[in-house]
Amino acid sequence: MDEADVAGDLVEVLFTEEQILARLAEMAKAIEADYEGEDLLVVGVLRGAVMVMADLSRALDRHLEMDWMAVSSYGSGTKSSGVVRILKDLDTDISGRHVLIVDEIVDTGLTLSWLVSNLASRHPASVRIATLLRKPEAVKVDLDVAYVGWDIPNEFVVGYGLDYNERYRNLRCIGTLAPHVYA
Ligand code: 5GP
Ligand code: MG
Ligand code: MG
Repeated sequence: MDEADVAGDLVEVLFTEEQILARLAEMAKAIEADYEGEDLLVVGVLRGAVMVMADLSRALDRHLEMDWMAVSSYGSGTKSSGVVRILKDLDTDISGRHVLIVDEIVDTGLTLSWLVSNLASRHPASVRIATLLRKPEAVKVDLDVAYVGWDIPNEFVVGYGLDYNERYRNLRCIGTLAPHVYA
């Protein structure tokens, strides 16, 4: 779905599909260099990271394995609390493996910080995070994000996997949602 299909729903397009793919290609270069000669397991966090996983993994010019996790973050309203429940666990034994968690956005960072400790307790060789977007609040928690596409202002964004009430995930670009849509 393109920008034209949601005309009026977006205040602004922050990143076009072209910009997203170009940035993911740059991130892929950095990842290739860092994991050269190593086995690599990329873990996508369902459901938001589906688009980033599809495009980042294909931008990577190397062999890798893909697995998925689904987690739900308990919290009041739209803010996560850091209390996380696993809805779908990995199918892979990650002990001794290099794990790269792929996500679409880090907001408070609480979900990923929980996920990193959870995966670290399974004795992987390493755990790192790659995210397309990061918001300022994420910097407050001590979360080490190895690969970041862009730091963005604290605004609610949709598209390219990011939803509002499960809609807009299939939008090719990323944009800020118009306030009238919430109402
Ligand atoms: P946190 O980092 O706060 O623990 O949780 C991040 C999750 O909150 C993301 O995976 C995403 O599902 C949701 N989220 C945070 N900010 C936004 C946003 O601007 N737009 C959308 N659609 N989801 C967001
Ligand atoms: Mg996510
Ligand atoms: Mg969501």
